[in-house]
Amino acid sequence: MTSIAFIGLGNMGGPMAANLVKAGHRVTGFDLSPASCDQAKSDGVNIASSTLDAVQNAEIVVTMLPAGKHVLSVWTDILPSVKEGALIIDCSTVDVESARKAHGMAGEQARNLMSLDAPVSGGVGGAKGATLTFMTGGARQAFDRAEPILSKMGRRVVHCGEAGAGQAAKICNNMILGISMIGVSEAFVLAEKLGLSHQALFDVASTSSGQCWALMNHCPVPDLVPTSAANNGYKPGFAAALMLKDLKLSQEAALTSGASTPLGAEATQLFSLFNASGHEGDDYSGIINFIRGQKS
Ligand code: NAD
Repeated sequence: MTSIAFIGLGNMGGPMAANLVKAGHRVTGFDLSPASCDQAKSDGVNIASSTLDAVQNAEIVVTMLPAGKHVLSVWTDILPSVKEGALIIDCSTVDVESARKAHGMAGEQARNLMSLDAPVSGGVGGAKGATLTFMTGGARQAFDRAEPILSKMGRRVVHCGEAGAGQAAKICNNMILGISMIGVSEAFVLAEKLGLSHQALFDVASTSSGQCWALMNHCPVPDLVPTSAANNGYKPGFAAALMLKDLKLSQEAALTSGASTPLGAEATQLFSLFNASGHEGDDYSGIINFIRGQKS
């Protein structure tokens, strides 16, 4: 049994912490939202009175927070108080720069702290079912220590490289997903204009060079793929607001690293417009309806 502190018990963090409890660990959590704390408490998490209270005696600290500024603020608060030799894992999706800064802050403590960035894919369903994929960045030693804990919350735990590499993998992957969902959506809209049935396009593209993950798993038209949010009125799934967040992070990273990502930029623009038209709570595959509504 390991003593684990879990900060951020929201849609993702709540079920992740619950899975650590199920695996037999002693989990102490904290969230600013009393409702999230109540839910976690009913899942067996001990609720602390503050972040600092939560990390007392923890061998491992996990943070699952909205964005980089929250992670840096919480890490600034807790790092001076965590136990010597503790491992701090951030599972939030944040910009690469903040992730690297957080690792640097842990290193500056000079108390043998270890740190890992470990963003996830798999959404709330994956968090509940412990089927997440973790993409991790940090020293190999930190990864080796984190892996048995992360594997209780997910199915795959990948070491992507040094500090920030997990976040880099996450935003590159989701930039592919955002671009490919738009490509698949455009193809279905064009097929409609050409009088080609959804089924016919799917039968061909799913077994030809147009095949991709977005088509095979999140097909944006209904009744072709059982796992599509399109079958369910575009109820998420993976919310358009989160796709936009990840695309914006990819564009920040492209700017700071000097990478040219013109399709990433265009996808960010299209998802911005889709979100701004009141669809931030819809599944990201609903972008097909936005594309269908555009005039050429
Ligand atoms: P959420 O908003 O449901 O949860 C975040 C929680 O952090 C909230 O409950 C909030 O009260 C808490 N919080 C904020 N500041 C805090 C502080 N200072 N101290 C303690 N608690 C604090 O968000 P979520 O959907 O759980 O997402 C968490 C992270 O996971 C995000 O970075 C998101 O991008 C990423 N993510 C989400 C999904 C998804 O499908 N929801 C999928 C992959 C990755």
